[in-house]
Amino acid sequence: MEIGRLGEFGLIDRLVKLLEIKDPSVVVGFGDDCSAVSVDGKLLLFTGDIQLEGRHFIKKLTPPEDLGWKLVSVNVSDVVACGGKPEWGFISVGFPPELGLDYVEGIYRGINKASRHYRMSVIGGNTTSSDSIILDLFLTGTTRRFIPRSGATDGQIVVLSGYTGLARAGLELLMMEKKEYQGFEKRLIDAFLKPVARLDLSEKLSRYASSAIDISDGLAGDTGHLAESSGVKIVFDKEKLPVNEDLLTYCRKAGKNVYDYMLYGGEDYQILFSVDRDNLRYFPECFPVGSIEKGTGLFLKDGGREVPIRPEGFTHI
Ligand code: MG
Ligand code: MG
Repeated sequence: MEIGRLGEFGLIDRLVKLLEIKDPSVVVGFGDDCSAVSVDGKLLLFTGDIQLEGRHFIKKLTPPEDLGWKLVSVNVSDVVACGGKPEWGFISVGFPPELGLDYVEGIYRGINKASRHYRMSVIGGNTTSSDSIILDLFLTGTTRRFIPRSGATDGQIVVLSGYTGLARAGLELLMMEKKEYQGFEKRLIDAFLKPVARLDLSEKLSRYASSAIDISDGLAGDTGHLAESSGVKIVFDKEKLPVNEDLLTYCRKAGKNVYDYMLYGGEDYQILFSVDRDNLRYFPECFPVGSIEKGTGLFLKDGGREVPIRPEGFTHI
């Protein structure tokens, strides 16, 4: 069978069945944004994310410093989603031999800038030649408490750490290759090229969140994963979903539905998490966007009506 017919998650299911874990009792998390193991009383996190030319970025539209920054940020976002702090990175790269040294050094300057920002270090790697640029970062982190996707319970509030949909609009604008961009357009492009992982929330998430996920593949799809892992129904309140002004301006001009971008956009690197109502007060900078109920599936409450949301996100195969 061709793996493309399985889809990303079907393939992962098949492959995981082939892996044997020598001591399952120390594995705290598997299949979440990070895997987690308990070592000498400490919780260690492992995650990895790849940036592949032509798939995740288009070289001529991507300044190398931004590419390096983004590679680190997308990995840190997964560590944050588990309530952790990034520590050590190890990078595997593939470069075409004719690639300019300037471009490669630019990527590494971006990696270094992001590492400094997130207070972590990249301490080694592996190189190969390849037909296109491949950047694969393996990142470790630590956490005081591992936050799984599976911990949401009915009666809790679902909270979103920031605006969504901006990165998709930014990518569309970037691909237009305009000679000049307006202020709101530049901000949307920056949201796509230079996402900032929400490390500012890590500590609080590890204390108060019962479940969390980074919504890198789109709000609807990833919230669907969280609902499924937790065995709950999630209902977004349409009025509470935060609408970004720049995105609204873009959608009005382009004749697009802003909720399509917010629900299905992807690459925003915000965190969706659940908390007890009493603990909402610890997250004044975030948006309570809905509730967790008994049942299954993802819904949008619009006025008096509750409509199911297609839980589709970006898949990589
Ligand atoms: Mg993730
Ligand atoms: Mg990721």
